[in-house]
Amino acid sequence: MKLILLGPPGAGKGTQAQKLVSDYGYAQLSTGDMLRAAVAAGSEVGKQAKDIMDRGDLVPDEVVVGIISDRVEAPDCAKGFILDGFPRNTAQAEALDKMLDEKGMKLDTVISLEVVEKDLFDRIEQRAKETVGGPRADDNVKALKKRLEVYHEQTAPLIKYYGDQGVLKTVDGMAQIDAVSAQISDILAEV
Ligand code: AMP
Repeated sequence: MKLILLGPPGAGKGTQAQKLVSDYGYAQLSTGDMLRAAVAAGSEVGKQAKDIMDRGDLVPDEVVVGIISDRVEAPDCAKGFILDGFPRNTAQAEALDKMLDEKGMKLDTVISLEVVEKDLFDRIEQRAKETVGGPRADDNVKALKKRLEVYHEQTAPLIKYYGDQGVLKTVDGMAQIDAVSAQISDILAEV
């Protein structure tokens, strides 16, 4: 199973991806997590990405496309993978299509988590309080506003992109975590 979880920051993509990892054994490919690891490790990619991430902008496409391209064929992706936070714009989506095609792979589904935007500020505030080791540098009101702006401008058009490909499904991301997971499981059972 190869799927994308699509949705604005705080929609619950990471939470749902982790549930899919434990329930189905798929790999979670979160570009945000990988970039934060690169920042923590002080690697070249991390140095390049840190300031961009802190202010809520997107890191360059070639960086994230390269990271994902390296990961999708790793052994832990044998049962499938969940793309969480990637693609973030049309150029990345096109690069992903090309990459999967070249590797003889195909996306099974794209699941869009629909949320009420004004509630995302409360969710992010809650996440900032609960994050072990302190809040993420971009889990604050200023960066979240920027991340939402970027989401609308660059990522939301992917709903139409995947709708046109006939692979888009939507779930109510405001439901309880288990109820969202149940909706996702129903979709996966059908594709
Ligand atoms: P996330 O954990 O998905 O919210 O991502 C945190 C930050 O990492 C984003 O605000 C971006 O700065 C960067 N990032 C993560 N994924 C991507 C991506 N696919 N393209 C560009 N930047 C990304």
